[in-house]
Amino acid sequence: MDAEHGEIGEPSRPGEHAEHGDDAWDRAASAARRGEELAQRSRELTDRLTRLRAGEPADPADAASAADAERAGRRTSEDARARLDQAIRRSAAAHDRAAAAHDRAADRHVGDVADHRARAAAHRRGAEADRQLANAPAPAPDEPPSRRPEDNMARRDLIVVGASAGGIEALVTLLGKLPADLPATVLVVVHLSPTGGNALAAILDRAGPLRARTARGQETLAVGEVIVAPAGQHLLVLDGRTALSRGPRENGHRPAVDVLFRSAARAAGARVISLVLSGALDDGAAGSVAVRGRGGAVLAQAPTEALYPGMPQAAVAAAGAEAVELAALPDRLLALLDEEVDPDGAPPPSDLITKETAIADMEPDAIESLDRPGHPSGYSCPDCHGSLFSIEERGMRRFRCRVGHAWSADSLLAQHDLAVEGALWMALRMLEEKAALSADLAGRARANDQLLTADRFMVQSEELGGAADLIRRLLVDGLDREEQAVPDVRPS
Ligand SMILES: [Zn+2]
Repeated sequence: MDAEHGEIGEPSRPGEHAEHGDDAWDRAASAARRGEELAQRSRELTDRLTRLRAGEPADPADAASAADAERAGRRTSEDARARLDQAIRRSAAAHDRAAAAHDRAADRHVGDVADHRARAAAHRRGAEADRQLANAPAPAPDEPPSRRPEDNMARRDLIVVGASAGGIEALVTLLGKLPADLPATVLVVVHLSPTGGNALAAILDRAGPLRARTARGQETLAVGEVIVAPAGQHLLVLDGRTALSRGPRENGHRPAVDVLFRSAARAAGARVISLVLSGALDDGAAGSVAVRGRGGAVLAQAPTEALYPGMPQAAVAAAGAEAVELAALPDRLLALLDEEVDPDGAPPPSDLITKETAIADMEPDAIESLDRPGHPSGYSCPDCHGSLFSIEERGMRRFRCRVGHAWSADSLLAQHDLAVEGALWMALRMLEEKAALSADLAGRARANDQLLTADRFMVQSEELGGAADLIRRLLVDGLDREEQAVPDVRPS
Protein backbone atom coordinates (compact mmCIF):
# COMPACT_ATOMS: atom_id res chain seq x y z
CA MET A 1 0.00 0.00 0.00
CA ASP A 2 2.74 2.36 0.89
CA ALA A 3 4.14 2.60 -2.61
CA GLU A 4 6.47 5.33 -3.68
CA HIS A 5 4.35 8.22 -4.79
CA GLY A 6 6.40 10.85 -6.47
CA GLU A 7 5.93 14.09 -8.29
CA ILE A 8 6.66 14.13 -11.97
CA GLY A 9 5.76 17.71 -12.68
CA GLU A 10 5.29 19.17 -16.12
CA PRO A 11 7.64 17.39 -18.52
CA SER A 12 9.90 19.59 -20.60
CA ARG A 13 9.24 19.51 -24.30
CA PRO A 14 12.13 17.71 -26.03
CA GLY A 15 12.90 19.02 -29.49
CA GLU A 16 13.53 15.50 -30.80
CA HIS A 17 9.84 14.76 -30.70
CA ALA A 18 8.82 17.65 -32.94
CA GLU A 19 8.25 15.26 -35.84
CA HIS A 20 5.45 13.55 -33.94
CA GLY A 21 3.37 16.72 -34.21
CA ASP A 22 1.86 19.01 -31.65
CA ASP A 23 -1.32 16.95 -31.19
CA ALA A 24 0.61 13.89 -30.13
CA TRP A 25 2.63 16.04 -27.76
CA ASP A 26 -0.49 17.55 -26.22
CA ARG A 27 -2.11 14.14 -25.76
CA ALA A 28 1.05 12.81 -24.19
CA ALA A 29 1.47 15.82 -21.91
CA SER A 30 -2.14 15.49 -20.88
CA ALA A 31 -1.54 11.81 -20.02
CA ALA A 32 1.43 12.83 -17.91
CA ARG A 33 -0.65 15.49 -16.10
CA ARG A 34 -3.47 12.98 -15.56
CA GLY A 35 -0.92 10.53 -14.12
CA GLU A 36 0.14 13.17 -11.63
CA GLU A 37 -3.45 14.02 -10.66
CA LEU A 38 -4.21 10.36 -10.09
CA ALA A 39 -1.00 9.90 -8.12
CA GLN A 40 -2.16 12.78 -5.89
CA ARG A 41 -5.57 11.09 -5.48
CA SER A 42 -3.78 7.84 -4.54
CA ARG A 43 -1.80 9.69 -1.91
CA GLU A 44 -4.94 11.21 -0.41
CA LEU A 45 -6.72 7.87 -0.31
CA THR A 46 -3.70 6.19 1.23
CA ASP A 47 -3.57 8.84 3.94
CA ARG A 48 -7.26 8.41 4.59
CA LEU A 49 -6.78 4.66 4.90
CA THR A 50 -3.97 5.12 7.37
CA ARG A 51 -6.25 7.25 9.54
CA LEU A 52 -9.15 4.81 9.23
CA ARG A 53 -6.92 1.94 10.35
CA ALA A 54 -5.69 3.96 13.28
CA GLY A 55 -9.31 4.39 14.28
CA GLU A 56 -9.24 8.13 13.55
CA PRO A 57 -12.01 9.78 11.57
CA ALA A 58 -10.81 10.21 7.98
CA ASP A 59 -12.33 13.65 7.60
CA PRO A 60 -14.64 16.02 9.48
CA ALA A 61 -17.71 14.64 7.66
CA ASP A 62 -16.76 11.13 8.74
CA ALA A 63 -16.21 12.39 12.27
CA ALA A 64 -19.65 13.97 12.42
CA SER A 65 -21.37 10.97 10.94
CA ALA A 66 -19.40 8.58 13.15
CA ALA A 67 -20.38 10.60 16.21
CA ASP A 68 -24.01 10.57 15.07
CA ALA A 69 -23.88 6.88 14.49
CA GLU A 70 -22.33 6.20 17.82
CA ARG A 71 -24.93 8.31 19.60
CA ALA A 72 -27.71 6.56 17.78
CA GLY A 73 -26.06 3.17 18.28
CA ARG A 74 -26.62 2.41 14.63
CA ARG A 75 -23.08 2.10 13.33
CA THR A 76 -21.79 -1.40 13.87
CA SER A 77 -18.27 -2.76 13.49
CA GLU A 78 -19.40 -4.34 10.17
CA ASP A 79 -20.19 -0.86 8.89
CA ALA A 80 -16.73 0.34 9.82
CA ARG A 81 -15.17 -2.67 8.13
CA ALA A 82 -17.23 -2.05 4.98
CA ARG A 83 -16.15 1.59 4.92
CA LEU A 84 -12.52 0.53 5.28
CA ASP A 85 -12.83 -2.04 2.47
CA GLN A 86 -14.47 0.51 0.24
CA ALA A 87 -11.67 3.00 0.85
CA ILE A 88 -9.06 0.30 0.15
CA ARG A 89 -10.74 -0.62 -3.14
CA ARG A 90 -10.90 3.01 -4.18
CA SER A 91 -7.24 3.41 -3.30
CA ALA A 92 -6.38 0.33 -5.42
CA ALA A 93 -8.41 1.66 -8.36
CA ALA A 94 -6.69 5.05 -8.12
CA HIS A 95 -3.31 3.27 -8.11
CA ASP A 96 -4.40 1.33 -11.24
CA ARG A 97 -5.40 4.48 -13.07
CA ALA A 98 -2.19 6.26 -12.08
CA ALA A 99 -0.15 3.27 -13.31
CA ALA A 100 -1.99 3.24 -16.64
CA ALA A 101 -1.54 7.01 -17.10
CA HIS A 102 2.21 6.75 -16.39
CA ASP A 103 2.45 3.89 -18.90
CA ARG A 104 0.67 5.98 -21.53
CA ALA A 105 3.05 8.86 -20.88
CA ALA A 106 5.98 6.46 -21.22
CA ASP A 107 4.55 4.94 -24.45
CA ARG A 108 4.40 8.45 -25.88
CA HIS A 109 7.91 9.30 -24.74
CA VAL A 110 6.96 12.21 -22.52
CA GLY A 111 9.82 13.26 -20.30
CA ASP A 112 11.78 10.47 -18.61
CA VAL A 113 10.42 7.16 -19.93
CA ALA A 114 12.27 5.02 -17.36
CA ASP A 115 10.93 7.24 -14.59
CA HIS A 116 7.31 6.88 -15.82
CA ARG A 117 7.72 3.08 -16.04
CA ALA A 118 9.15 3.00 -12.53
CA ARG A 119 6.27 5.06 -11.17
CA ALA A 120 3.73 2.87 -12.98
CA ALA A 121 5.37 -0.19 -11.40
CA ALA A 122 5.26 1.42 -7.96
CA HIS A 123 1.52 2.19 -8.38
CA ARG A 124 0.82 -1.39 -9.50
CA ARG A 125 2.58 -2.65 -6.38
CA GLY A 126 0.45 -0.25 -4.31
CA ALA A 127 -2.73 -1.57 -5.97
CA GLU A 128 -1.66 -5.16 -5.41
CA ALA A 129 -0.93 -4.49 -1.74
CA ASP A 130 -4.33 -2.82 -1.34
CA ARG A 131 -6.15 -5.78 -2.86
CA GLN A 132 -4.31 -8.25 -0.67
CA LEU A 133 -5.21 -6.16 2.36
CA ALA A 134 -8.90 -5.98 1.51
CA ASN A 135 -9.01 -9.47 0.01
CA ALA A 136 -10.96 -7.49 -2.52
CA PRO A 137 -12.12 -8.75 -5.92
CA ALA A 138 -10.60 -7.57 -9.20
CA PRO A 139 -11.37 -3.97 -10.14
CA ALA A 140 -14.79 -3.19 -11.53
CA PRO A 141 -15.16 -3.55 -15.33
CA ASP A 142 -15.36 0.20 -15.88
CA GLU A 143 -11.94 0.66 -14.24
CA PRO A 144 -8.91 0.12 -16.47
CA PRO A 145 -7.56 -3.23 -15.19
CA SER A 146 -4.12 -3.43 -13.67
CA ARG A 147 -1.75 -4.75 -16.33
CA ARG A 148 -1.25 -8.46 -15.80
CA PRO A 149 2.39 -9.53 -15.29
CA GLU A 150 2.41 -11.47 -18.60
CA ASP A 151 1.56 -8.23 -20.47
CA ASN A 152 4.70 -6.70 -19.04
CA MET A 153 7.14 -9.47 -19.73
CA ALA A 154 10.07 -8.46 -21.89
CA ARG A 155 13.32 -9.96 -23.06
CA ARG A 156 16.73 -8.68 -22.17
CA ASP A 157 18.05 -6.63 -25.07
CA LEU A 158 21.00 -4.59 -23.81
CA ILE A 159 24.47 -6.03 -23.15
CA VAL A 160 26.98 -3.64 -21.54
CA VAL A 161 30.62 -4.74 -21.52
CA GLY A 162 33.57 -3.27 -19.62
CA ALA A 163 37.20 -4.24 -20.20
CA SER A 164 40.70 -3.00 -19.57
CA ALA A 165 44.14 -4.63 -19.69
CA GLY A 166 43.86 -8.03 -21.39
CA GLY A 167 40.22 -7.33 -22.19
CA ILE A 168 40.46 -6.55 -25.90
CA GLU A 169 41.61 -10.11 -26.66
CA ALA A 170 38.69 -11.47 -24.63
CA LEU A 171 36.27 -9.12 -26.42
CA VAL A 172 37.54 -10.17 -29.87
CA THR A 173 37.12 -13.85 -28.94
CA LEU A 174 33.61 -13.24 -27.60
CA LEU A 175 32.39 -11.20 -30.61
CA GLY A 176 33.80 -13.90 -32.91
CA LYS A 177 31.28 -16.34 -31.46
CA LEU A 178 28.13 -14.18 -31.23
CA PRO A 179 25.61 -14.58 -34.11
CA ALA A 180 24.81 -11.86 -36.66
CA ASP A 181 21.16 -11.87 -35.52
CA LEU A 182 21.98 -11.21 -31.86
CA PRO A 183 18.71 -9.86 -30.37
CA ALA A 184 20.47 -7.17 -28.33
CA THR A 185 22.56 -4.02 -28.57
CA VAL A 186 26.12 -4.36 -27.27
CA LEU A 187 27.68 -1.26 -25.68
CA VAL A 188 31.41 -1.43 -24.95
CA VAL A 189 33.75 0.57 -22.71
CA VAL A 190 37.46 -0.26 -22.86
CA HIS A 191 39.96 1.90 -20.96
CA LEU A 192 41.89 3.73 -23.64
CA SER A 193 44.48 6.46 -23.58
CA PRO A 194 42.74 9.80 -24.25
CA THR A 195 45.42 10.64 -26.81
CA GLY A 196 45.03 7.32 -28.61
CA GLY A 197 42.92 6.96 -31.74
CA ASN A 198 39.63 5.11 -32.12
CA ALA A 199 40.91 1.95 -33.82
CA LEU A 200 39.09 -0.30 -31.34
CA ALA A 201 35.78 -0.29 -33.24
CA ALA A 202 37.56 -1.40 -36.42
CA ILE A 203 39.27 -4.24 -34.52
CA LEU A 204 35.94 -5.36 -33.03
CA ASP A 205 34.17 -4.99 -36.40
CA ARG A 206 36.58 -7.52 -37.92
CA ALA A 207 36.18 -9.88 -34.95
CA GLY A 208 32.85 -11.39 -36.01
CA PRO A 209 29.58 -10.99 -37.90
CA LEU A 210 28.24 -8.13 -35.74
CA ARG A 211 28.83 -4.58 -37.04
CA ALA A 212 30.88 -2.51 -34.59
CA ARG A 213 31.44 1.24 -34.67
CA THR A 214 32.48 4.13 -32.46
CA ALA A 215 29.59 5.83 -30.64
CA ARG A 216 28.49 9.15 -32.11
CA GLY A 217 26.05 9.99 -29.29
CA GLN A 218 22.24 10.44 -29.34
CA GLU A 219 21.71 7.21 -31.24
CA THR A 220 18.69 4.95 -30.85
CA LEU A 221 19.64 1.51 -29.58
CA ALA A 222 19.26 -1.03 -32.41
CA VAL A 223 19.67 -4.78 -31.95
CA GLY A 224 22.64 -6.48 -33.56
CA GLU A 225 24.93 -3.45 -33.20
CA VAL A 226 28.14 -3.08 -31.23
CA ILE A 227 28.72 0.52 -30.12
CA VAL A 228 32.12 1.41 -28.66
CA ALA A 229 32.89 4.36 -26.36
CA PRO A 230 35.34 6.79 -28.02
CA ALA A 231 38.62 7.66 -26.30
CA GLY A 232 38.20 10.47 -23.78
CA GLN A 233 34.38 10.38 -23.52
CA HIS A 234 31.90 8.58 -21.27
CA LEU A 235 29.31 6.43 -23.06
CA LEU A 236 25.87 6.48 -21.37
CA VAL A 237 22.37 5.15 -22.01
CA LEU A 238 19.61 7.72 -21.51
CA ASP A 239 16.00 6.72 -22.27
CA GLY A 240 16.67 4.24 -25.03
CA ARG A 241 19.39 6.34 -26.65
CA THR A 242 23.13 6.56 -26.27
CA ALA A 243 24.81 9.74 -25.07
CA LEU A 244 28.43 10.88 -24.93
CA SER A 245 29.83 13.11 -22.23
CA ARG A 246 33.09 14.67 -21.13
CA GLY A 247 31.89 14.45 -17.51
CA PRO A 248 34.23 13.88 -14.55
CA ARG A 249 36.50 10.85 -14.70
CA GLU A 250 35.55 7.84 -12.59
CA ASN A 251 38.28 5.65 -11.10
CA GLY A 252 40.67 7.84 -13.09
CA HIS A 253 39.03 6.80 -16.38
CA ARG A 254 36.95 8.39 -19.10
CA PRO A 255 35.30 6.39 -20.58
CA ALA A 256 34.55 4.54 -17.33
CA VAL A 257 32.78 1.19 -17.07
CA ASP A 258 30.84 2.27 -13.96
CA VAL A 259 29.27 5.20 -15.86
CA LEU A 260 28.01 2.98 -18.70
CA PHE A 261 26.70 0.27 -16.36
CA ARG A 262 25.00 2.70 -13.96
CA SER A 263 23.22 4.64 -16.74
CA ALA A 264 22.12 1.38 -18.44
CA ALA A 265 20.78 0.05 -15.13
CA ARG A 266 18.82 3.25 -14.63
CA ALA A 267 17.41 3.37 -18.18
CA ALA A 268 16.73 -0.31 -18.89
CA GLY A 269 16.61 -2.10 -15.49
CA ALA A 270 15.97 -5.84 -15.81
CA ARG A 271 16.61 -5.77 -19.59
CA VAL A 272 20.34 -5.25 -18.97
CA ILE A 273 23.11 -7.85 -18.95
CA SER A 274 26.43 -6.49 -17.68
CA LEU A 275 29.74 -8.22 -18.35
CA VAL A 276 33.13 -7.33 -16.85
CA LEU A 277 36.14 -8.72 -18.74
CA SER A 278 39.87 -8.76 -17.90
CA GLY A 279 41.35 -5.62 -16.33
CA ALA A 280 43.29 -4.38 -13.33
CA LEU A 281 41.73 -2.76 -10.23
CA ASP A 282 37.95 -2.55 -9.96
CA ASP A 283 36.19 -0.26 -12.46
CA GLY A 284 32.83 -1.91 -13.23
CA ALA A 285 32.24 -3.26 -9.72
CA ALA A 286 30.08 -0.32 -8.58
CA GLY A 287 28.27 -0.40 -11.96
CA SER A 288 27.59 -4.12 -11.55
CA VAL A 289 26.08 -3.39 -8.13
CA ALA A 290 23.75 -0.85 -9.81
CA VAL A 291 22.73 -3.34 -12.55
CA ARG A 292 21.99 -6.03 -9.96
CA GLY A 293 20.00 -3.54 -7.87
CA ARG A 294 17.67 -2.90 -10.82
CA GLY A 295 17.12 -6.61 -11.54
CA GLY A 296 19.63 -6.98 -14.40
CA ALA A 297 21.85 -10.01 -15.03
CA VAL A 298 25.45 -9.55 -13.86
CA LEU A 299 28.32 -11.52 -15.43
CA ALA A 300 32.12 -11.48 -15.22
CA GLN A 301 34.82 -13.32 -17.11
CA ALA A 302 36.06 -16.12 -14.82
CA PRO A 303 38.87 -14.40 -12.85
CA THR A 304 40.89 -17.63 -12.94
CA GLU A 305 41.36 -17.31 -16.71
CA ALA A 306 41.34 -13.50 -17.10
CA LEU A 307 44.78 -12.08 -18.02
CA TYR A 308 44.23 -9.42 -15.35
CA PRO A 309 41.68 -10.75 -12.81
CA GLY A 310 41.22 -7.52 -10.80
CA MET A 311 38.10 -6.11 -12.51
CA PRO A 312 36.14 -9.39 -12.89
CA GLN A 313 37.14 -10.42 -9.37
CA ALA A 314 35.88 -7.10 -7.97
CA ALA A 315 32.52 -7.48 -9.82
CA VAL A 316 32.13 -10.98 -8.36
CA ALA A 317 32.99 -9.76 -4.85
CA ALA A 318 30.90 -6.56 -4.87
CA ALA A 319 27.86 -7.57 -6.93
CA GLY A 320 27.91 -11.37 -6.84
CA ALA A 321 28.57 -11.42 -10.61
CA GLU A 322 28.29 -14.86 -12.18
CA ALA A 323 31.83 -15.91 -13.21
CA VAL A 324 31.77 -17.50 -16.68
CA GLU A 325 34.73 -18.78 -18.72
CA LEU A 326 35.22 -17.03 -22.05
CA ALA A 327 34.44 -20.18 -24.04
CA ALA A 328 31.05 -20.52 -22.33
CA LEU A 329 30.13 -16.79 -22.47
CA PRO A 330 28.39 -16.74 -25.91
CA ASP A 331 26.00 -19.55 -24.93
CA ARG A 332 25.37 -18.02 -21.51
CA LEU A 333 24.55 -14.64 -23.07
CA LEU A 334 22.18 -16.20 -25.63
CA ALA A 335 20.41 -18.15 -22.87
CA LEU A 336 19.96 -14.97 -20.82
CA LEU A 337 18.64 -13.09 -23.90
CA ASP A 338 16.09 -15.87 -24.39
CA GLU A 339 14.68 -15.62 -20.87
CA GLU A 340 11.67 -13.47 -20.11
CA VAL A 341 12.01 -10.82 -17.41
CA ASP A 342 9.53 -8.54 -15.71
CA PRO A 343 10.85 -5.01 -16.26
CA ASP A 344 8.57 -3.75 -13.50
CA GLY A 345 9.60 -6.44 -11.04
CA ALA A 346 12.69 -4.56 -9.89
CA PRO A 347 12.88 -1.51 -7.65
CA PRO A 348 12.76 1.86 -9.46
CA PRO A 349 16.07 3.70 -9.94
CA SER A 350 17.37 5.10 -6.66
CA ASP A 351 18.02 8.81 -6.15
CA LEU A 352 21.73 7.97 -6.00
CA ILE A 353 21.81 6.25 -9.41
CA THR A 354 19.82 9.11 -10.96
CA LYS A 355 22.05 11.78 -9.40
CA GLU A 356 25.29 10.01 -10.36
CA THR A 357 24.10 9.47 -13.95
CA ALA A 358 23.21 13.16 -14.16
CA ILE A 359 26.71 14.12 -12.92
CA ALA A 360 28.37 11.88 -15.54
CA ASP A 361 26.09 13.38 -18.20
CA MET A 362 27.12 16.92 -17.09
CA GLU A 363 23.51 17.97 -16.52
CA PRO A 364 23.75 21.60 -15.41
CA ASP A 365 21.46 21.08 -12.40
CA ALA A 366 23.47 18.13 -11.15
CA ILE A 367 26.83 19.83 -11.74
CA GLU A 368 25.81 23.07 -10.04
CA SER A 369 23.95 21.42 -7.16
CA LEU A 370 25.74 21.67 -3.84
CA ASP A 371 23.88 18.59 -2.65
CA ARG A 372 26.52 15.89 -3.19
CA PRO A 373 25.78 12.23 -2.51
CA GLY A 374 27.49 10.75 0.57
CA HIS A 375 29.22 12.09 3.70
CA PRO A 376 32.55 13.93 4.04
CA SER A 377 35.31 11.31 4.20
CA GLY A 378 38.31 13.39 5.29
CA TYR A 379 40.25 12.26 2.17
CA SER A 380 41.04 14.38 -0.86
CA CYS A 381 40.48 13.78 -4.56
CA PRO A 382 43.69 12.88 -6.43
CA ASP A 383 42.37 14.61 -9.56
CA CYS A 384 41.32 18.00 -8.14
CA HIS A 385 42.43 17.89 -4.45
CA GLY A 386 38.84 18.66 -3.36
CA SER A 387 37.15 16.90 -0.43
CA LEU A 388 35.93 13.39 -1.11
CA PHE A 389 32.46 12.29 0.02
CA SER A 390 32.08 8.66 1.08
CA ILE A 391 29.19 6.70 -0.49
CA GLU A 392 27.96 3.35 0.84
CA GLU A 393 25.94 1.33 -1.68
CA ARG A 394 24.94 -2.26 -0.93
CA GLY A 395 27.99 -2.82 1.23
CA MET A 396 30.42 -1.22 -1.25
CA ARG A 397 32.29 1.90 -0.17
CA ARG A 398 33.38 4.42 -2.75
CA PHE A 399 34.11 8.15 -3.01
CA ARG A 400 33.08 11.18 -5.03
CA CYS A 401 34.40 14.75 -4.88
CA ARG A 402 32.43 17.98 -5.19
CA VAL A 403 33.08 18.39 -8.92
CA GLY A 404 32.16 14.77 -9.55
CA HIS A 405 35.34 12.66 -9.84
CA ALA A 406 34.45 9.20 -8.55
CA TRP A 407 36.82 6.66 -6.99
CA SER A 408 36.50 3.09 -5.82
CA ALA A 409 38.60 2.30 -2.75
CA ASP A 410 41.14 0.37 -4.87
CA SER A 411 41.48 3.01 -7.56
CA LEU A 412 41.85 5.72 -4.90
CA LEU A 413 44.67 3.74 -3.24
CA ALA A 414 46.36 3.15 -6.59
CA GLN A 415 46.18 6.85 -7.44
CA HIS A 416 47.64 7.77 -4.05
CA ASP A 417 50.47 5.29 -4.70
CA LEU A 418 51.27 7.27 -7.84
CA ALA A 419 51.31 10.51 -5.83
CA VAL A 420 53.61 8.94 -3.23
CA GLU A 421 55.90 7.73 -6.00
CA GLY A 422 56.05 11.24 -7.47
CA ALA A 423 56.99 12.62 -4.05
CA LEU A 424 59.74 9.98 -3.71
CA TRP A 425 61.27 10.87 -7.10
CA MET A 426 61.25 14.52 -6.03
CA ALA A 427 62.94 13.63 -2.73
CA LEU A 428 65.53 11.55 -4.62
CA ARG A 429 66.38 14.43 -6.92
CA MET A 430 66.80 16.85 -3.98
CA LEU A 431 68.98 14.41 -2.00
CA GLU A 432 71.24 13.76 -4.99
CA GLU A 433 71.65 17.48 -5.69
CA LYS A 434 72.50 18.16 -2.07
CA ALA A 435 74.95 15.24 -1.94
CA ALA A 436 76.69 16.54 -5.09
CA LEU A 437 76.83 20.08 -3.68
CA SER A 438 78.33 18.82 -0.38
CA ALA A 439 80.97 16.79 -2.25
CA ASP A 440 81.82 19.87 -4.32
CA LEU A 441 82.19 22.03 -1.18
CA ALA A 442 84.35 19.33 0.48
CA GLY A 443 86.70 19.39 -2.53
CA ARG A 444 87.04 23.18 -2.42
CA ALA A 445 87.67 23.14 1.37
CA ARG A 446 90.38 20.50 0.94
CA ALA A 447 92.05 22.56 -1.79
CA ASN A 448 92.17 25.48 0.68
CA ASP A 449 93.65 23.21 3.42
CA GLN A 450 90.45 23.55 5.51
CA LEU A 451 90.60 19.85 6.35
CA LEU A 452 88.05 19.82 9.21
CA THR A 453 85.46 21.61 7.06
CA ALA A 454 86.26 19.29 4.15
CA ASP A 455 85.67 16.22 6.35
CA ARG A 456 82.38 17.64 7.60
CA PHE A 457 81.08 18.22 4.02
CA MET A 458 82.32 14.78 2.94
CA VAL A 459 80.47 13.02 5.79
CA GLN A 460 77.33 14.99 4.93
CA SER A 461 77.62 14.08 1.26
CA GLU A 462 78.00 10.37 2.08
CA GLU A 463 74.98 10.44 4.40
CA LEU A 464 72.85 12.14 1.72
CA GLY A 465 74.09 9.64 -0.88
CA GLY A 466 73.08 6.75 1.42
CA ALA A 467 69.59 8.20 1.87
CA ALA A 468 69.26 8.68 -1.91
CA ASP A 469 70.28 5.02 -2.47
CA LEU A 470 67.61 3.91 -0.02
CA ILE A 471 64.89 5.83 -1.87
CA ARG A 472 66.13 4.64 -5.25
CA ARG A 473 65.92 1.03 -4.07
CA LEU A 474 62.40 1.68 -2.72
CA LEU A 475 61.33 3.16 -6.06
CA VAL A 476 62.78 0.30 -8.11
CA ASP A 477 61.24 -2.35 -5.86
CA GLY A 478 57.94 -0.49 -5.85
CA LEU A 479 57.89 -0.18 -9.64
CA ASP A 480 58.57 -3.89 -10.04
CA ARG A 481 55.63 -4.66 -7.79
CA GLU A 482 53.38 -2.25 -9.69
CA GLU A 483 54.26 -3.82 -13.05
CA GLN A 484 52.91 -7.10 -11.75
CA ALA A 485 49.76 -5.65 -10.24
CA VAL A 486 48.81 -2.62 -12.33
CA PRO A 487 49.90 -2.93 -15.93
CA ASP A 488 49.09 -0.36 -18.59
CA VAL A 489 45.69 1.07 -17.94
CA ARG A 490 46.57 4.49 -16.70
CA PRO A 491 46.35 7.30 -17.33
CA SER A 492 43.14 7.38 -19.32
ZN1 LIG B 1 37.91 15.71 -7.87
